Amino acid sequence: MTEIKKSVLITGSSTGIGLDAAIKLADQGFKVYAGVRTAQDQKRLREISDNIVPIILDVTSEAQIQDAYQLISSQQTSSFSLVNNAGIAVAGPFESLTVSDFRRQFEVNFFGLIQVTKAFLPLIRKNRGRIINISSVSGLSSSPFLGAYSASKYALEALSDALRWELAPTGVKVVIVEPGPIATPIWKKGMGAEQDMMGALPEDLKPTYELAVQRFSKLIQTIEASALPVGKVSEAIVKALTAKNPPVRMMVAAMARKGQYRLTKHLPEKWVDKLMEKVLFK
Ligand code: NDP
Repeated sequence: MTEIKKSVLITGSSTGIGLDAAIKLADQGFKVYAGVRTAQDQKRLREISDNIVPIILDVTSEAQIQDAYQLISSQQTSSFSLVNNAGIAVAGPFESLTVSDFRRQFEVNFFGLIQVTKAFLPLIRKNRGRIINISSVSGLSSSPFLGAYSASKYALEALSDALRWELAPTGVKVVIVEPGPIATPIWKKGMGAEQDMMGALPEDLKPTYELAVQRFSKLIQTIEASALPVGKVSEAIVKALTAKNPPVRMMVAAMARKGQYRLTKHLPEKWVDKLMEKVLFK
């Protein structure tokens, strides 16, 4: 008799957190539907484990979401959960970003997540599964030049709280995972590259932002160098999916950084403003 496995859909599984979580969950016996966007990634992931079923899933494509739903809902499972992981980071001064840059940021990190969650919620509810939303510490405190990204993660935090309360009577748990800096390819995909940010600025504004952009880019490099291994987030995802009573929020960051994020929230805002001014402009 074929064993009926627990299953999970992870969006954005080609690299980084999604890929590592797919491998860890497959090792634990989950059937993992791994969302990728290219045939090459699909082939690469298929070779990793028999428990990984790579599917083409761009979270901004209603048609691809429907195809994924048709495939997954036709399979037998003992439980079905969703990890909303796909994400991009659009960086740059507000004045260098176009409205479509902001929309692109939200299309993936926010509206994409909404589309996927809406499509799969009936299946999750039927199978008493869970929804794991990959937010960020940027969903708790913003940063200059990461306004678009932070805004998308703040929005995700607010939505996740509302969804958790609304779904409580149905038994569907919603868990928010908040990684700090994690070593993944996201850092090389446009997160704070000085030339990109400066290049997108109108000539007359370049002198205004030059120093701050330089400092921000250096800061990003320092933060990236101290990023935690990706396995720390997958461990949290496994716990969020398997613990009887998972925490509502799971911050994944080095101890010192956790303290720093919490402290920043409680410092008088004028102090934080002064600090920011010193770091960027003085
Ligand atoms: P990666 O860049 O390694 O992974 C991002 C994944 O999202 C890739 O698989 C990418 O696919 C996918 N993706 C991008 N656009 C879409 C789309 N339109 N539809 C479907 N998938 C898409 O970065 P991470 O692993 O770091 O990021 C994963 C999540 O973790 C993100 O939500 C990010 O915001 C969050 N996070 C990351 C932190 C970090 O420091 N790394 C810190 C805090 C949060 P493709 O390869 O096809 O582009």
